[in-house]
Amino acid sequence: MIRTVVTCDRDACQAIYLPTADAGAEALEQAARVVGWRRQTTHSHTCPACTTGTGPVLERGECPACSGRTYDRADGMVCQYCQTLTPHPADDWS
Ligand SMILES: [Zn+2]
Ligand SMILES: [Zn+2]
Repeated sequence: MIRTVVTCDRDACQAIYLPTADAGAEALEQAARVVGWRRQTTHSHTCPACTTGTGPVLERGECPACSGRTYDRADGMVCQYCQTLTPHPADDWS
């Protein structure tokens, strides 16, 4: 099975949007848009970081929106590229 993902069309950008569930192309498109991805053409997208001018994503990490590198802050995990804040989980499941 091929998992559908969204990748950034910008040169050198490593951003990728990996859905938590494979719900089809249309649902993926919507979910990506919610976290900041913008569609350029039918098969081309720009990641949240490049859209807001903070890209390109050069290092992969755990950002749920762009898969960019994140750093820990008191209130959660922050993407150094698209600035998405992921609050720390209530209980540590890792
Ligand atoms: Zn990008
Ligand atoms: Zn990000």
